[in-house]
Amino acid sequence: MTELQSLCVYCGSSSDVDPVHLDNARALGRMAAERGVGIVFGGGRVGLMGVLADACMAAGGRVIGIIPRDLDDREVGHRDVSELEIVDSMHVRKMRMFHRSDAFCVLPGGLGTLDEAFEIITWRQLGFHDKPIVLFNLAGYWNPLLALIDHQIAEGYVRPQHRDLFEVVEAPEAVFEAVARARPPAKPARTERL
Ligand code: AMP
Repeated sequence: MTELQSLCVYCGSSSDVDPVHLDNARALGRMAAERGVGIVFGGGRVGLMGVLADACMAAGGRVIGIIPRDLDDREVGHRDVSELEIVDSMHVRKMRMFHRSDAFCVLPGGLGTLDEAFEIITWRQLGFHDKPIVLFNLAGYWNPLLALIDHQIAEGYVRPQHRDLFEVVEAPEAVFEAVARARPPAKPARTERL
């Protein structure tokens, strides 16, 4: 079992969503603080991102935001976090989020969240890393995505074993349990290729 120090959370930047989603983002932030797990996130004050960061900070946790200079205005770069890294591009943001985290959690989100989630999943598929990835299927939010992946497997586009590149959980505490269950990599990942 690997000791989790930093959990990267990908999640939506919209606030106009089911309040239960905002509550669960808050719960995840608070639980991370209680467990001494730092949060790495996209650095915005908006949507699930903002409430996650606020809840973790309020509970005495450590939060690292990473935001591209261009998005600092639009996503309202969060200044009240432990550290806000302002970077030059989206690609640098994603790479910094990857390098600063031991594991990844995908909360409900929009197109940006999908992009981030599938990049980290496909990097694992290609063997570029072996860090745990957890999909938080809050209130069935990701069911259509899981159905699409099952369809891709049935049609022969995705190998059945690649369904195990990420674990699906349905409650915030289960995110930490899933990461704790993950085995350390048998062989070093080829991160130098990223
Ligand atoms: P969304 O899920 O669309 O609300 O976006 C969530 C986060 O993903 C926001 O911080 C966006 O800046 C970020 N995002 C949007 N598009 C991309 C992309 N192509 N690559 C990486 N992150 C993105």
